[in-house]
Amino acid sequence: MKGKVYLVGAGPGDYKLLTLKGLECIKEADVIVYDRLANLNYLKEAKPNCEFIYVGKASSNHTLPQEDINRVIANKAKEGKIVTRLKGGDPYVFGRGGEEGQLLKEEGIDFEVIPGVTSAIGGLCYAGIPITHRDHASSFHVVTGHLRDDDKENPEINWNALANIRGTLVFLMGVANLKKISENLIKEGKSKDTPVALISWATRYNQRVITSTLEDVYETAVRENVKPPTLIAVGSVVGLRDTLNFFEKKPLFGKNIMVTRSRTQSSSIVEKIMDLGGNPIEIPTIKIEKIENNTELENEISNIKDYTYLVLTSKNAVEIFFDKLEEMNLDTRALANLKVCAIGSATAKEIKSRGIIADIVPKAFVAESLFDELKDKLTKEDNILIPRAKNARDYLVDKLSEICTVKEVHTYESVIDTSKKGEILDILEKEELDFITFASSSTVRNFVEIIGQDNLDKINSSKVISIGPITSATAEELNINVYKEAEKATIDKIVEAITIC
Ligand code: SAH
Repeated sequence: MKGKVYLVGAGPGDYKLLTLKGLECIKEADVIVYDRLANLNYLKEAKPNCEFIYVGKASSNHTLPQEDINRVIANKAKEGKIVTRLKGGDPYVFGRGGEEGQLLKEEGIDFEVIPGVTSAIGGLCYAGIPITHRDHASSFHVVTGHLRDDDKENPEINWNALANIRGTLVFLMGVANLKKISENLIKEGKSKDTPVALISWATRYNQRVITSTLEDVYETAVRENVKPPTLIAVGSVVGLRDTLNFFEKKPLFGKNIMVTRSRTQSSSIVEKIMDLGGNPIEIPTIKIEKIENNTELENEISNIKDYTYLVLTSKNAVEIFFDKLEEMNLDTRALANLKVCAIGSATAKEIKSRGIIADIVPKAFVAESLFDELKDKLTKEDNILIPRAKNARDYLVDKLSEICTVKEVHTYESVIDTSKKGEILDILEKEELDFITFASSSTVRNFVEIIGQDNLDKINSSKVISIGPITSATAEELNINVYKEAEKATIDKIVEAITIC
């Protein structure tokens, strides 16, 4: 087996600023070598047994010298592994990707380079600064601010040229040398009034932009305690920020939002929060445990012809049911004679991905709503199969049973995940959480059980958003003040409730 290395540009930080090719390399990797500028959430896309190696360095504090990084990558590839080297921004923009590539070539190791959105361009963009503009700058220059000791005879950087060319200047790794950079430019003739922007953690929820002039920028940076990673943008394009700043205007920009759903269900809310500029912090309070060797489910699937309705109430229920169908060597034709009902649009979407369009999808994501839709359609001859969670509410089965025959089969159980207590308390202490969302009564109960009643004061400063009246009632019972309730029990409405707070 032959190994291979992918040098992948992970983009500037916003999760979605990664190329499709880059994502493919992450999914395929046996080993991922990453540093601190790559968004860590990409690691979640890796294969289950992928090995992660952190080689990050925080400015001068080197974790692993470059030679050692090169060695690790080459050795893993020689073991026949697919190695993805994730680098912030673009691998060839001050990322030493060229050196890594040269070494791989020397060692006869196959490699590919996947470009990324460099922070030099993408970071400015998210700060509302176009790197070129016909009225302001017809060129741009990306310069390292990590200056080696100045050799007066043969300076590393031609300051005179930089000061006099009428293009946008972008310095990377320049915070520590900001004084030198601004002084050199002024000395060589650049106007003291030239606008400068300092952009820290560009494209992330915690992006911070400070504007100043070439003359004052050093003092401003000291006063504002500007730290790496920061981009220094110099030029009149900085002035366009007032008009072109779209990112910091997003409704959830800068907000920390704790999302308490089970891992498998939280992705849609997480994605929406990110799209609106917020920082979703996922807290798994429940985990899904499938009931193994489910002969009851097998029996009912064997008798599926006797049923007139199949009710699926969650994505998990859909997955387990259809997997079992497949395992029994059946396909969707086995369901041709019955009507399929889904609670919630996410459930309906999952059913669709299995090749069936649900016949009935109630407007609200609750059992009551499904019952309302079904009650006039059913007759006592109907026979309903509901494969669902063991600890689900009785309501639906009880009400439907008043009309016709109902068979409930337990296919999974959502169990409390207490292993996360330390992690959750850590987050409650360290992060300033603006919002905490609860999307079901059980997540509220589990959350309180995991952290303990005596730690509830830790969430006093956060606003609690609940998905609906049942969840709110549970929260209040457990002494949690609900700040706002979603208008309807959907993820979209939860997000909307947060947005208009
Ligand atoms: N290859 C990277 C740059 C690596 S050098 C790229 O193409 O973006 C590291 C420097 O890049 C940091 O010191 C900082 O100046 C800049 N940088 C990278 N990502 C950044 C971000 N999200 N926000 C601000 N600066 C960033």
